[in-house]
Amino acid sequence: MTPKIKAVFFDRDGTLIHEKPGVYLSAPARVRPYKSVPAALQLLKKAGYHFFIVSNQSGIGRGYFTEKEVNAVHARLLQLLKPARFDAVVFCPHAPDENCTCRKPQPKMGLDLIKKFHIDPKQSFMIGDKKADVLFGHAIGCRSILVTTANGKHHLKKYPDLHPEKVASNLLNAARFIVKGR
Ligand SMILES: [Mg+2]
Ligand SMILES: [Zn+2]
Repeated sequence: MTPKIKAVFFDRDGTLIHEKPGVYLSAPARVRPYKSVPAALQLLKKAGYHFFIVSNQSGIGRGYFTEKEVNAVHARLLQLLKPARFDAVVFCPHAPDENCTCRKPQPKMGLDLIKKFHIDPKQSFMIGDKKADVLFGHAIGCRSILVTTANGKHHLKKYPDLHPEKVASNLLNAARFIVKGR
């Protein structure tokens, strides 16, 4: 049997890159990773984690931008985050009212990756800034970290029943928690 890998699943907007509330990002030139991202990825890579981006891009379903534009944003993002390497970038293109089966917090995108890449969810983490990210992580059997960047602070207050394994002020502190367990 193939040995299983351990993974960190990242939300994109408000977690890896700056997000302006209510603004749907479609221009590669506007992609701006948070300052702590390179150090966080370096720390996690050293600890043996594989990286995946799992993103809801309802702007496609809402008609704000195309799938092609989203792919261009991802190409830019991956270029900016080098030398860190991501095994896959997946996204749900649907608007919430399309009732698809892939939009986070539904587990489909994660379960597909777990199967395809032989990921052990028990050794893996989901990091995001929204309730849906925390629920998604739990739904696929991972531990969830809520970063208080972008929507994080608000969602933490708004959803007191949300129980992420860790609340971190930024991605580097999330990475430190994963590596050191505190
Ligand atoms: Mg987000
Ligand atoms: Zn979907």
